[in-house]
Amino acid sequence: MLRLQHIAKTGEKMSTPALQPLKHENKPATDSLAAAMQALKLMLGDRYSVSESVRLVHGKGEAWHAPQLPDCVCFPESTDEVSRIVKICAEHRIPVIPFGVGTSLEGHTIAPLGGVSIDLGRMNQVLQVHPADMDCRVQAGVTRKQLNQAIRDTGLFFPIDPGADATLGGMTATRASGTNAVRYGTMKDNVMSLTLVNAAGEIVQTGGRAKKSSAGYDLTRLMVGSEGTLGVITEIGLRLHGMPEAMMAAVATFPDLGSAVATVMDTIQVGLPIARIELVDRDTVQAINSYSKTDYPVRDTLFLEFHGSERYVEEQVELFVELAGSHGGSDLEWARHEEDRNNLWQARHDAYLAILAKYPGTQGFTTDVCVPISNLAEIIEFIKAVLVDSSLEGHILGHAGDGNFHIVFCIDPEISAQVDEVYRVNDLLIDKALEMEGTCTGEHGIGFGKLKYMRREHGDEAIAMMQAVKKGLDPDNIMNPGKTVTA
Ligand SMILES: Cc1cc2nc3c(=O)[nH]c(=O)nc-3n(C[C@H](O)[C@H](O)[C@H](O)COP(=O)(O)OP(=O)(O)OC[C@H]3O[C@@H](n4cnc5c(N)ncnc54)[C@H](O)[C@@H]3O)c2cc1C
Repeated sequence: MLRLQHIAKTGEKMSTPALQPLKHENKPATDSLAAAMQALKLMLGDRYSVSESVRLVHGKGEAWHAPQLPDCVCFPESTDEVSRIVKICAEHRIPVIPFGVGTSLEGHTIAPLGGVSIDLGRMNQVLQVHPADMDCRVQAGVTRKQLNQAIRDTGLFFPIDPGADATLGGMTATRASGTNAVRYGTMKDNVMSLTLVNAAGEIVQTGGRAKKSSAGYDLTRLMVGSEGTLGVITEIGLRLHGMPEAMMAAVATFPDLGSAVATVMDTIQVGLPIARIELVDRDTVQAINSYSKTDYPVRDTLFLEFHGSERYVEEQVELFVELAGSHGGSDLEWARHEEDRNNLWQARHDAYLAILAKYPGTQGFTTDVCVPISNLAEIIEFIKAVLVDSSLEGHILGHAGDGNFHIVFCIDPEISAQVDEVYRVNDLLIDKALEMEGTCTGEHGIGFGKLKYMRREHGDEAIAMMQAVKKGLDPDNIMNPGKTVTA
């Protein structure tokens, strides 16, 4: 059994205990819960639900973890309503779990102590678009595709694209990224300001529209990645980007995974400003072909995209072809027209569903480490060797240009040997990533599933500081309890 270790900055190894999930004795008293639920029902009418199916959707999400249901679900339509809901919960010390569309993968929305799920889905208005300043303001329930549809005539776009059509509130709360992050950054780089409701139910504004500011603590950045544990985000100010004059997408195939990874590393290290460079192993390509009815060569593959002026895109393509060729890259298939590019990226985004479809009756377990780019080849070689000896098949794919990749396993969570095996492989992978000064999650977040790695990654002092922030902003621990950092 792998010993849990934190690799200190000095290189010295020391054991530290894992953060512990919540126990059921922390549940709120029944009469407090009943009083809160009665008040919420009166306030919201048919925008309040205790239906089992509605609670199940909210108490599970995409995660493979066992569902744990909230006691009720509320569907507010304004910041003011969110504030009133949280004030009721604060008065009765009832857990509050913000909810976007439930595509997070680490049990972020499960409700270990029950409580109130706040579904932001009805807060789906694009409030302001400022083309001259290239920014906008949206309600938290707007999804990334809705935003891009709403601004399509402005010549601007919002680049961050987790495979799922997640809400911008959820993406902010998980500090999400996706295929474009290698060029445009993650949510951390693209959120400018927020309106949020804190654990006391007060409405707080953070940040502004200025391109930069050095005025005090950066509360916006504190909230980005807070996973609903510090407050409910109700509005978001976002940076937008100019639609490039030319875009060229492509797939390139390689004799083996190592050659594909070496090409990614060279591409980033020579400073080629590629917009997307996605690694997909041959088994996943096969699954994509079968699910999406495509006919990509079944080889280890990079999905690519180049942005810029016509001339600049040509220059980037020329340099990339040279780099890929030096690692045996071939079969380059180009997609210039919007429809062809969209089809190519739809196939890439459907990779997770394609893998699931290959193993009917199973659930997906996805992990996502991220390492400094110079370590990417070594960690992928390491984990491939682990997978050769494993009883489970793991599919490797991800946003390799950021040093970020996923392994997707399809398992039956009822079979304990399979669960033990994914945890064993995950532990080995994360241990290796941390040794390389990487992270246990590049983009999916901690939720409930990766709590046990937090102390190893950050060390005792940083965890104590996070706990102090949590305690200061949410003294009764009502905001998404049991996630991210325990009180
Ligand atoms: C097929 C697939 C592919 C994916 N690919 C990627 C990827 O490439 N990159 C990536 O980053 N992620 C990816 N994900 C994960 C997922 O899409 C992200 O975690 C997403 O950001 C979650 O958004 P959501 O609206 O579904 O939030 P939810 O799942 O509903 O919530 C996620 C967390 O945020 C909190 N939250 C939600 N809304 C708010 C709010 N308004 N205020 C405060 N807290 C809130 C919740 O409490 C919870 O802790 C993928 C998921 C799937 C299923």
